[in-house]
Amino acid sequence: MAERLRGKPVADAMKEDLVARIEALKARGITPKIGIIRVGANPDDLFYEGGIKKTGDGVGLAYEVFEHPEDVGQAEFEKAVSALGADSSIHGILMFAPLPKHLDEKKIRRLIPVEKDVDCMTLGGAGKVFADDVTGFPPCTPTACMEMLKFYDIPLKGKRVTVVGRSMIVGKPVAMLLMREHATITICHSRTQNLPRVCAEADILVAAIGRAKMIGKDYVKPGQIVIDVGINADPDNPGKYCGDVDFEAVEPVVEKISPVPAGVGSVTTIVLCKHTVMACEAQNS
Ligand code: NAP
Repeated sequence: MAERLRGKPVADAMKEDLVARIEALKARGITPKIGIIRVGANPDDLFYEGGIKKTGDGVGLAYEVFEHPEDVGQAEFEKAVSALGADSSIHGILMFAPLPKHLDEKKIRRLIPVEKDVDCMTLGGAGKVFADDVTGFPPCTPTACMEMLKFYDIPLKGKRVTVVGRSMIVGKPVAMLLMREHATITICHSRTQNLPRVCAEADILVAAIGRAKMIGKDYVKPGQIVIDVGINADPDNPGKYCGDVDFEAVEPVVEKISPVPAGVGSVTTIVLCKHTVMACEAQNS
């Protein structure tokens, strides 16, 4: 049976460290705070928002939600985002995306100051990740993958890692972070040929596809470590969700595997809190 790489112990260890850092800031009269920008009331956004509030309460991080109606105008919204960027009591900004179609999202993203960009929504933030500039904040999910690998002492130097998915929010940045740790990376996508073979050749496989249970036993080999980033509606269990990996098929083959739920997703919100605290520390150094 494969070792389960659960997210909760990782998040718990991170919480302990964060509580101490937040207390140290509060002792200096500074309360780290995240501003959450939400347009409309998308259930996924509300779910994530609830998680942020709960995790924030658990560590002592302040938060404020800036809610806008679905039909908010471009000029009004730009003004609100700029005001948040200029507000020195807000150290990190999370904006739920995608924004409604009538808004120019690219333009609005540019209004978020890079130093407050705690989930890598700006080109400046992404540039820092790709340039190995550690003053930038990679998106929270790739960082959560790295926190998992670090916590479970999984060596990366010289290892072959296959990442399936090339989005700016997961695939590409996780590849950059893995390369920073001296892994050798193959990035795959929907046009990759012989995908099962490319996946099975890796020491570590990261699945960030958005296709329920796509990675089956033909994609893996004994001794492999599998990180499943996927969050999909489970076609076999209505109302539940599952990963991009067919856990039942893959788990008996590989050495270690992160489950869904209770894997990477359990670490994401604490990473967001950590980035906000780091931003606060940097803005007050
Ligand atoms: P995305 O933007 O839709 O990107 C999916 C990537 O997978 C694309 O690069 C796509 O290739 C590739 N792909 C799709 N079908 C494929 C196939 N049949 N074979 C090979 N590659 C294929 O998705 P995302 O935002 O990166 O998210 C990926 C998954 O992670 C989703 O399940 C999402 O829910 C989950 N997620 C989890 C968290 C978390 O906290 N755990 C956070 C964010 C996302 P092309 O580029 O060629 O189209």
